[in-house]
Amino acid sequence: MIETDVLVIGGGVAGLLAAAKAADEGVEVVIVDRGSGASYQSSGVIDVMGCLPEGEITLSPLEGVTQTIECLPQHPYSVISSERSVADVIKEATKCLLDMASTHEVRFDGNIEKNVILLNTIGSFKITCFYQSTMSGGTLNKLDGASLLVVGFNGLAGFNPRFCASGFKHFASKFNVELRKADGVKLSLPALRDFNLTFIELARMIDKDEFREILAKKLRDETVKGNTSHIALPTLGLRKHYESMRILREETEAEVFELVSPPPSVPAQRLMRALEEGVAEKGVRILRGYKAVGFKSEGRRVMSVILDSGGKHFPAKAGAYILATGKFIGGGLVEEEDKVKEAVFNLPLYDERGKALRGQKIPRLLARSPFPQGGHPLMGCGVKVNAQMKPVVEGEVVYENLFVAGSLISGYSYVREKSGMGVATATGYVAGISAAIYVG
Ligand SMILES: Cc1cc2nc3c(=O)[nH]c(=O)nc-3n(C[C@H](O)[C@H](O)[C@H](O)COP(=O)(O)OP(=O)(O)OC[C@H]3O[C@@H](n4cnc5c(N)ncnc54)[C@H](O)[C@@H]3O)c2cc1C
Repeated sequence: MIETDVLVIGGGVAGLLAAAKAADEGVEVVIVDRGSGASYQSSGVIDVMGCLPEGEITLSPLEGVTQTIECLPQHPYSVISSERSVADVIKEATKCLLDMASTHEVRFDGNIEKNVILLNTIGSFKITCFYQSTMSGGTLNKLDGASLLVVGFNGLAGFNPRFCASGFKHFASKFNVELRKADGVKLSLPALRDFNLTFIELARMIDKDEFREILAKKLRDETVKGNTSHIALPTLGLRKHYESMRILREETEAEVFELVSPPPSVPAQRLMRALEEGVAEKGVRILRGYKAVGFKSEGRRVMSVILDSGGKHFPAKAGAYILATGKFIGGGLVEEEDKVKEAVFNLPLYDERGKALRGQKIPRLLARSPFPQGGHPLMGCGVKVNAQMKPVVEGEVVYENLFVAGSLISGYSYVREKSGMGVATATGYVAGISAAIYVG
């Protein structure tokens, strides 16, 4: 049996931040996780707020957050702001995340005052706030007047460097950035399989000294041929990304950077590994392969959570529980008999506008339009919380020692507004403090 002060269910970004903060407050913390969720599928960059409430893109995350709080009282940022300045919470929470990441070899650039536009592997752009420093050379504002070479590899599935290069040239001009030149080239390297190669496999190859040496020479030849100032690669490696960037920059004398890539992206794997190492360093135990399948309660107190590991069930007891199981990708929300259900505690669910779902069937939730302008209606569904991140129904706390963090919370759609990791980080941070105060 597991016994601890705080049990965190879910080891995505929200659960890891909650655990880190609770451990910082001096309590014993255990994380249980059944596998992986959206955090591993992400691009590994931290969006805080990329849009204004009407949907217009904003280069000021804090302006986006301020307008969101004014317009959407049910939004998680608004809920946090009822007790503290949400800007302060986001700053503290992202600092906690970025500090843990940088201690474990994943450094970030960017700041909360400004969104940047990064190039991605489908030839368009991604707006975000904090980005891994291996991507810095590819922020759009740094590319004015650049002669860019996009480099692909024979066999790498889902990445066409020439197509990307023409996309960048076309779209950059819309932001008043003129690329002097943008070309694409596909390299054939004998060590690489020439079909169905994944980004992760390529990253592992780039981590190898011999492969990197061959790549550096090829890139130098291409750079000289094309008088290139900037080189965009689909990845710079899984573990030796800084070493690769340094060596390739020295060899080519060009600004080498990596593009924002598709799921499961290499930068996300790096970030999650760094955060797990950071959390473990704070004394948190992380148990993978443990799924919460039920619970026992007395009145408004959760007494234990039932865990399943390899088909065996056993209880985990804690003073406080943090539920950070994510939405549909994580497994926090599931479909049962055509209805959406919270998977562990069967908590009541709400939609993006704060209305109770009351067991409505999924086809009814989707009936409004086959092409909903405001994004997929199910993406805004989840649990309603108060300022301490306790689940509430009609203003009443459901369980006094249960706290909720991350994308399981209702009232926002990260897909539409570009706020995924920002909300996960801020709500995880607040849930961690609240749970530690509760047991303290
Ligand atoms: C393809 C994609 C790309 C994205 N890109 C970005 C991006 O670039 N920037 C950004 O800011 N946001 C991005 N997002 C959004 C962002 O990834 C999410 O908002 C964020 O990761 C949510 O974190 P979370 O911890 O709440 O949930 P998750 O990461 O889903 O974590 C939930 C965890 O709970 C575990 N779990 C679930 N049920 C149980 C159970 N019963 N018992 C034990 N464990 C359980 C799961 O295994 C999982 O590890 C992206 C999302 C997707 C899908």
